[in-house]
Amino acid sequence: MDVSHILDPLNDAQRRAVTTPPGPVLVLAGAGSGKTRVLTHRIGWLVQAEGISPLQILAVTFTNKASREMRGRIEELLNFPTGGMWMGTFHGICHRLLRMHYQEAGLPETFEIIDSDDQYRLIRRILGELDLDEAYWPPRQLQWAINQHKEEARRAHHLPASDDYHQQTLYRVYASYEEFCQRLGLVDFAEILLRTLELFKNNQTIRETWQKRFRHVLVDEFQDTNTIQYQWLRLLSASSRNLFAVGDDDQSIYGWRGARVENLLTFEKDYPGAEIVRLEQNYRSSGHILAAANAVIARNEDRMGKELWTEAADGNLIRLYGASNEIDEAQFVVGTIESWVEQGNRRDSVAILYRSNAQSRVFEEQLLSAAMPYRVYGGLRFFERAEIKDALGYMRLISNHDSDPSFERIVNLPPRGIGNRTLEKIREYSRTQQISMWQAASQVISQELLPARAAGAVGAFLKLISEMTAQTEDNSLEDLTDHVLNTSGLLEHYRKEKSERAQGRVENLEELVSAARNFIPAETDDNELDLLSLFLANAALEAGEGQAEEWEDCVQLMSLHSAKGLEFPLVFLCGMEEGLFPHQRSLEEPGRLEEERRLCYVGMTRAMEQLYLCYAEIRRLYGKDHYTQGSRFLTEVPTANIEEIRSSAISRPLQRGGLRKEEKNSNELQPGKQVRHEKFGEGMVVTLEGQGEHTRVQIHFSEVGTKWIIPAYASLEMI
Ligand code: ATP
Ligand code: MG
Repeated sequence: MDVSHILDPLNDAQRRAVTTPPGPVLVLAGAGSGKTRVLTHRIGWLVQAEGISPLQILAVTFTNKASREMRGRIEELLNFPTGGMWMGTFHGICHRLLRMHYQEAGLPETFEIIDSDDQYRLIRRILGELDLDEAYWPPRQLQWAINQHKEEARRAHHLPASDDYHQQTLYRVYASYEEFCQRLGLVDFAEILLRTLELFKNNQTIRETWQKRFRHVLVDEFQDTNTIQYQWLRLLSASSRNLFAVGDDDQSIYGWRGARVENLLTFEKDYPGAEIVRLEQNYRSSGHILAAANAVIARNEDRMGKELWTEAADGNLIRLYGASNEIDEAQFVVGTIESWVEQGNRRDSVAILYRSNAQSRVFEEQLLSAAMPYRVYGGLRFFERAEIKDALGYMRLISNHDSDPSFERIVNLPPRGIGNRTLEKIREYSRTQQISMWQAASQVISQELLPARAAGAVGAFLKLISEMTAQTEDNSLEDLTDHVLNTSGLLEHYRKEKSERAQGRVENLEELVSAARNFIPAETDDNELDLLSLFLANAALEAGEGQAEEWEDCVQLMSLHSAKGLEFPLVFLCGMEEGLFPHQRSLEEPGRLEEERRLCYVGMTRAMEQLYLCYAEIRRLYGKDHYTQGSRFLTEVPTANIEEIRSSAISRPLQRGGLRKEEKNSNELQPGKQVRHEKFGEGMVVTLEGQGEHTRVQIHFSEVGTKWIIPAYASLEMI
C-alpha cells in the first residue's frame, strides 16, 4: 500500500519515530516540533503499513477537544471513519472500562460518578457521623488528602499504622469515605482511575483480554501523567511492550495536581532498549517568538535540556503593551482583534490567554460590547461559576424574598444547621399554602411547627437576610456586595479551606466586588428598576448569552493550562505581572516558580505569527486595586525579539533586569498619589493619559467615586 501521504509530510526524525518497528518508543521534544503530528501519523502507519486494525489501537489524549481534533486528522489521513478506535482522556477511557466490567470491579451496575462538590458534601456528612468538628478537620483538606492518596494508588488500609492522632483521624475519615462510596455505589474522579488500575492488577482474565485487544497504546502529553496513569499504561502494554509516548518536560504544568514529569525519565529505565526520538525543528512559530520562548525556558535549571530551531523567517517582533489598567488592557486586546479580523482573518485564529480564570470577566465585557463572538474554554464563564451563583443567590433573595430557587440554593450555605428534614417541612408548607419558601419559613416558625433547634436556625437565617435587605437602602452596590460576602459567611467558608480550588473561589468572589463597582447600567435598561435588580438581570443575561456556539467562528479565551497542545496565529498573553503570573503562590514554594515558567513557555509557544504580551500598571482584581510590577518573565525575553508598543503614559520604557519603576519626583501626579480637589474632596490618582496640558487624570474620590479630571483646568492639591 502506498503510504507516502503518511510519510511525506514528516522530517527524518519524525519519520523514524513513526516507522519504528513495534516496541516501546519515547518521543521527547519541545513545543511545536510535531509530537502530536507524529502520534497521529504513527496511528496511520500502524493501520496502513503494519496492517493493525484500528480496533487494536488505544490513543490517550489530555482533553476531549484534543481527542476530537486527533480523530478528525486520522480520518483524513486514512480516508475512512475510525469510530471503533478507542481514543479519549484517561478518565473517559477508564470510565468506559468500568461500565463494561462493573461486576469485576466490585461496583453496582448503576454506579454513579460524583464530582468534587459531591465528594466534599459527602466528607462533611462523614465528619458529622464520626463526630469530628469541621473547625479542626477542614473538609477540603481531608478531601485533598484523600485524593492525594488515591492518586498514588494508596487505599486507606495501605496507610501505615500511626500513633499520631492526626494520621489516625485521616485514616478513619478515609476508611469511612471508602465504605460510604462503596455502599452507595459512588465513584469520584480519582477512583475512576484507581479502580481501573486495581481491576487490571487483580483480574488476570480481564488484564489479558485488554492487553490482547490493545496491541498498541499511544499517549500524548506524557509529561503530565500521574503515578496511577503511568502504572496503568504499563500494565496495559506489559505483554506487547508497544507503548508509544510523546512528551516535553518543559511543558509539565500539572505538578501541583500530582503529575510526575519523572515518568519521562523512568520510561527509559522501564523499557530498556526503547527507541528514543528527539525532535528539534519547530514548525509552529516564527523566529522571534521561538527565540524568545527558548530564552525564557533556558532560565530553568531543572530541565532535560533541548533547543529548538526553525527554518521560518523571523516574522514580527513580539509586542509588549503596558496598559494603564485591566480595562485598558482588554480594550487594547479587543481593538487589535477587530483590526485583525478586518484584515480578513478568522476570529478563531485568535486566543486570549490568562493565568487566572477570574481575568476572563473584563475581556468578556469588552468582547460583548464590541459584539465580537467569543468562547471561554476550560473553566466556566464568570457568572456561571458556582460560587458566583451562590453570592448572587443572596443578592437575589435580598432583592426578592420570594425567589424560591435562591432560597433553596443558599439557605444552608455555608452550613448553618438547616437539614433536609426541616427544608422538606418548609417545602411542604409552601406547596400546600401556595406561598413562597420565604413566607412558608416564617409561618412554620410562628406556628411552632418546627423543633426548637431547627426553628432557631431558620429564624436566624431569615433575620440575616432581613438585615442584609435593610443594608441595601443607603449602600452602594459595591458595598452591598462586599457586605453580603462577609456577613453571609461565604467568603469565610471558602477561605478556611486550603485547597487550590477553594482559593480560586475566594478570588472569584472578590472579583464580584470589582464587577459591582464597575457596573454601569446600559442606557436601554429600564430605569424604573433599582441598581441591584439591574445588576442581577445583567448577571443572568451574561451567564446565558454572549458566548458563541462551538462551531461558530469566535475568539477563544482560556487559561494557560487549557491552552496546552493548541496553536493560534495570533496570541495575547495577558496579565504579565508579578503575583499574577508568576502566581503569588509560586513565589512562596520552591520549584513552583519553574513550573510557572514552563507555563509561560507553553503560552508563548501557542503563537504562530504574532504574540502580544500585556501587563497593566494597576489591576483591579479580586476586589482590590493592585499597583503591579511587570512579570519577571518579561525581562527574560531578549530585547532583540520584542518591541514595546506602549508603555502607559506614566511608565518608563521597559528596563532590562526588572520593570521596577524609578522613584519619581514626589510632586508629580502619578498613580497612588493622594490629592484634594476643590469640589470633589480627597481622592487617589488611578491613572493618567496624555501629556502636558492635555493630561487627563483618573481619580478615585472617596465621596463621589471615580472621575476624569484635566489638571490644567482644575485645581488639584497634592496631599
Ligand atoms: P505541543 O508541544 O505544543 O503539543 P507538538 O510538538 O505536538 O506541539 P504539533 O502540534 O504536532 O506539535 O505540530 C506543530 C505544528 O507544526 C502543527 O501545525 C503541525 O501541523 C506542524 N508540523 C509538524 N511537523 C511538521 C512537518 N514535518 N512539516 C510541516 N509542518 C509540520
Ligand atoms: Mg502536541
